[in-house]
Amino acid sequence: MSGSSFNRPKLELPHGHQKVLLHSCCAPCSGEVMEAIRASGIDYTIYFYNPNIHPREEYELRKQENIRFAEKEGVPFVDADYDTDNWFARAKGLEWEPERGARCTMCFDMRFDRTALYAHENGFPVITSCLGLSRWKDMDQINASGERVAAKYPGITYWTYNWRKLGGANRMVEIAKREQFYQQEYCGCVYSLRDTNKWRMDHGRERIARGEKFYGVADGEPAGGSGKDGHSAGPADA
Ligand code: SF4
Repeated sequence: MSGSSFNRPKLELPHGHQKVLLHSCCAPCSGEVMEAIRASGIDYTIYFYNPNIHPREEYELRKQENIRFAEKEGVPFVDADYDTDNWFARAKGLEWEPERGARCTMCFDMRFDRTALYAHENGFPVITSCLGLSRWKDMDQINASGERVAAKYPGITYWTYNWRKLGGANRMVEIAKREQFYQQEYCGCVYSLRDTNKWRMDHGRERIARGEKFYGVADGEPAGGSGKDGHSAGPADA
């Protein structure tokens, strides 16, 4: 089994449950979360619902990387809709919101809504997401969204575990390098792509070259670096 060399905390789901539906945005963020959950003997399924990711080629690449690792781990992978029309309709009027703003709240709500519905219909008492693993995300914003959505369904709890703590953030990078995951350089939506490129241009850097960077593959910029925009290194998770 991969990742067995890590010294991990023993995780426990809320209310003593033993089964969780994990919303995943990408392979780098979910890799650590998947291994942490499995190391604690918890039964889990991956739910991939990310209609925010743009364009389609980027979406397919991120999804296929996640499927590749799920198959390696022998974990069920639910491939949900890519209903981008729905996402863009909800994003209307929020196009110029900054990251961590109202558009992101909408984006989290939408993805967790569908995750909770699937959990409700398929007998998962707990849902969670690897979105909070990224240091570029607001953990409180993500947890508030998860809890708000879960509250619509009696018997479903959003698990607010902080995946970054106790070495989780470092393990994420180590696993991504070990597995040579695709390294996305922007959060996911067309607006984050626009804004990250703008930041790069303003700072004399090249525009994002989608589909070209992979963790652990030498390209002159080490994974886990410190790009101010949050998308030059580390998973700019969707
Ligand atoms: S920046 Fe990321 S979280 Fe925010 S709306 Fe775009 S894809 Fe969603």
